Amino acid sequence: TPGLYFLATPIGTARDITLRALDILASADVIAAEDTRSLRHLMEIHGVPLEGRRILAYHDHSGPGARGQLIAALEAGHSVAYASEAGMPLIADPGYDLGRAAAEAGFAVTVAPGPSAALAALTLAGLPTDAFFFAGFLPNAKTARRTRLEELKPIPGTLIFYESPKRAAASLSDMAEVLGPDRPAALCRELTKKFEEIRRGSLAELAEGALTEPPRGEIVILVDRGHSEPVKASDIEADLRAALEDHSVRDA
Ligand code: SAM
Repeated sequence: TPGLYFLATPIGTARDITLRALDILASADVIAAEDTRSLRHLMEIHGVPLEGRRILAYHDHSGPGARGQLIAALEAGHSVAYASEAGMPLIADPGYDLGRAAAEAGFAVTVAPGPSAALAALTLAGLPTDAFFFAGFLPNAKTARRTRLEELKPIPGTLIFYESPKRAAASLSDMAEVLGPDRPAALCRELTKKFEEIRRGSLAELAEGALTEPPRGEIVILVDRGHSEPVKASDIEADLRAALEDHSVRDA
């Protein structure tokens, strides 16, 4: 059926792709990808033939021309499949502008969901999962990074960051300083791959560890929400007494 199909691709292990995503790749009229080579390779691994189709390169920043080509395919009644290089498209990856353009033009947009490093890491970090905030990549420049961390500091949920191994130590030390050294945190590395590793500890401990043993490969950093000072029972009693006194005055 015509429409735009976003496809999730593996974040490490090639078999982490859904059967439905493979079905869509097998039948889509037009296939587009952030990285045409890695998608072609994935299709080969799973025995999905291209059968005369080409894989078009598409990034949101490849401009309105490339997007226009895909929208034109939708207008012609074709089905268009789009995958980013790894994980879910649109999640720190291209696809947002394409999805908007297709929806605004009135075409059906759907997804074959699958792995995303953010949720894989949240599942393993051992930090609260009831509320979380995906913060993507922090800015490169130190001042901008700290300003961003100040903004994120009061958020009442687990913070999820994508990070490059080169910057991990610097980011963790900024996080320890701005968010607080004692906040529980986790560094999740190479998820679903051979050297998958989870380091858990306070931000200060993880920052220290990143200096003594620099983490390699692909990294997600997670940080627990800040907990304000616990409310003391004696404060609650005093508040209650004050409230009761208030009432007795008004009722008298
Ligand atoms: N769209 C992808 C997703 O849904 O997770 C994310 C793409 S983003 C350009 C790449 C970043 O995701 C990496 O720098 C790393 O922070 C994180 N990442 C991707 N694969 C990972 C893995 N296997 N283990 C840990 N982090 C990963």
